[in-house]
Amino acid sequence: MTAPYTYVECYEHRIVDGKVVAREVERHHLNRDRADNRPENLVSLSVHEHAQVHHHCDVLDDIVRLYGEGHSTVAVGRMVGRDNAVVYRHLVAQGVPIRNKVNRVTDAEREQIAELFREGRSWAEVGRITGRSSYSLAKVKNAL
Ligand SMILES: [Zn+2]
Repeated sequence: MTAPYTYVECYEHRIVDGKVVAREVERHHLNRDRADNRPENLVSLSVHEHAQVHHHCDVLDDIVRLYGEGHSTVAVGRMVGRDNAVVYRHLVAQGVPIRNKVNRVTDAEREQIAELFREGRSWAEVGRITGRSSYSLAKVKNAL
C-alpha cells in the first residue's frame, strides 16, 4: 500500500540534480519489489547511497505506522528524528487523514475514560474500550 508513494519519495530523493547516478554498484528497485526487474524500476546506486535510500524509506514507513498508532505529528517527528512539518507533509501526500483537535476526546468520552480509570482498569484496557491512544488517555488522566 505504501509502495507507490515510497517510489515517488525515493525517486525524488535520487534526482536532486536531474542526473542519473553514474556508478553502477548496486541496483535499487524503486517500487521495492525485487522481482520487478523492468529497467524503469531499477536505479544504480553506490553502496552508501543505497543504504541511505533504504533508511529514508524506512523512516517514511515508520511515520505512517507511528501516526496510525495514535501518536501526534510532533511525537512522531521526535521518534523518527524529523521535523513535524516533514511528518505532516508525508502523511498528507500519503493520503493519511490528519486528526485535528476538534476531533479530540468529547466530554462524554472524557467521563467514560475517567470512570474506567476510577474502576482501576489498566491503560491497555481503557485504550481498547474507548479506542483512544495512550496520548489522548494521558491528557484526560492528567486533567483529572
Ligand atoms: Zn534497494
